[in-house]
Amino acid sequence: MRYISTRGQSPALNFSEILLGGLAPDGGLYMPEQYPQFSDADLSAMRQMSYADLAYTILSRLIDDIPAADLKAIVAKTYTPEVYAYARPSQNATDITPTLKLEDGLYLLSLSNGPTLAFKDMAMQLLGNLFEYVLAKVGQTTNILGATSGDTGSAAEYAMRGKKGISVFMLSPHKKMSRFQTAQMFSLQDDNIHNIAVKGVFDDCQDMVKAVSNDAEFKAKHKIGAVNSINWARVAAQVVYYFKGYFAVTKSNAELVSFAVPSGNFGNVCAGHVARMMGLPIKKLVVATNENDVLDEFFKTGVYAPRTSAQTLHTSSPSMDISKASNFERFVFDLVGRDSEQVRALWSKVDQGGAFDLNANGLFAKVANYGLVSGSSNHANRMQTIRDAYAKYGVTIDTHTADGLKVALEYRETNVPMVVLETALPAKFEDAVVEALGQKPERPASLSGLESLPQRFDVMDASVQAIKQYITDKV
Ligand SMILES: *Cc1c(COP(=O)(O)O)cnc(C)c1O
Repeated sequence: MRYISTRGQSPALNFSEILLGGLAPDGGLYMPEQYPQFSDADLSAMRQMSYADLAYTILSRLIDDIPAADLKAIVAKTYTPEVYAYARPSQNATDITPTLKLEDGLYLLSLSNGPTLAFKDMAMQLLGNLFEYVLAKVGQTTNILGATSGDTGSAAEYAMRGKKGISVFMLSPHKKMSRFQTAQMFSLQDDNIHNIAVKGVFDDCQDMVKAVSNDAEFKAKHKIGAVNSINWARVAAQVVYYFKGYFAVTKSNAELVSFAVPSGNFGNVCAGHVARMMGLPIKKLVVATNENDVLDEFFKTGVYAPRTSAQTLHTSSPSMDISKASNFERFVFDLVGRDSEQVRALWSKVDQGGAFDLNANGLFAKVANYGLVSGSSNHANRMQTIRDAYAKYGVTIDTHTADGLKVALEYRETNVPMVVLETALPAKFEDAVVEALGQKPERPASLSGLESLPQRFDVMDASVQAIKQYITDKV
């Protein structure tokens, strides 16, 4: 399997060659040259598989430059109930992504039982093991530099901690993350993890990362890498749980299932699109946004108008506070029939801060063929949905999942099961749950003293020179 750029001006590469990089040199995103297809017979064979076997079956069709036995071992050590340990007592941790039935035809798919209690662990844990394997093979090392407002940074650190050949430099806004998120990251004592609290906001952190990445000489000399949401391996890993969820709620491959996906960067729902393109019988992919509703606007109107970070609202589902959905280009590439010239024309507007409208050329009418629909929630909707879910089903959900459930209910159809992706456990967003329910959500026992563990971090001014010096000193 070769990977091509959505902008069509970069050479096709193998999986291992795109694993450690970010954007393609032409500014596009990597996509498989064609989607592998799973037949009805394939699906029947996959129906009873364990998560790890299912992951291997799917990923081996996308990754053909890692020997089968090695890939199998990497996947087997990633998807274990010990890594994804935080299932609710009523759920089966050995399923890795267990489902929870709320009522007939309505389910949660729990993707947040990994070490950082958010769905990003599903892909990031695999990435950590793939990075270590590929780096060892070519005798290289990498220094991962990232900026986080919470979930991505912690998932990356828990995936990369203790890994040979990898160091992580993670910038976060000083005193701006939740107490839980801060404690999760800063309590890590591994030598290869460097937490840097920047005196500024998230955008300052992001700008520092961009400035370092734009310094080609520094980047090459210090082997700076990234694990951002456009990484193809993250999308590929996420494809697996759509299959797992589908099999959990159906008895035969003749049935259709819809999924509702709390969305920000379009990474999670992009994986659903890919699963559908590979032959998984998906009816609808419901894109659920919060008040930052660029994607909802697109799927309702055909106009994609990304906003600036200054126009991005801080909401009670902070991991979806995104106004430029970086993976969206992957879907549009398929929508335009993989015509990279059209993608370049559309993004020449977006990259200059503009917008595009797909109504004029009839493309917007084709979106329906992909099952994608959308909706959004506001704070009051999420609070009400958390209360309703608790009252009706006795289940506590977090604000991101509440957004998914709220919009899912707007698109339910008889005889089509609706699966809501649970993207974080409520313990991660305790304050919002207390606001909704007047009581704290349950927290996994092993995390009970998290906030009182010793913390290890360095405080830094929002200065590009300072972070460059810091990296130079540490490596
Ligand atoms: C990252 C994240 C999302 C958004 O996922 P995208 O892939 O960016 O669309 C939703 N919920 C939670 C809890 C997250 O951490």
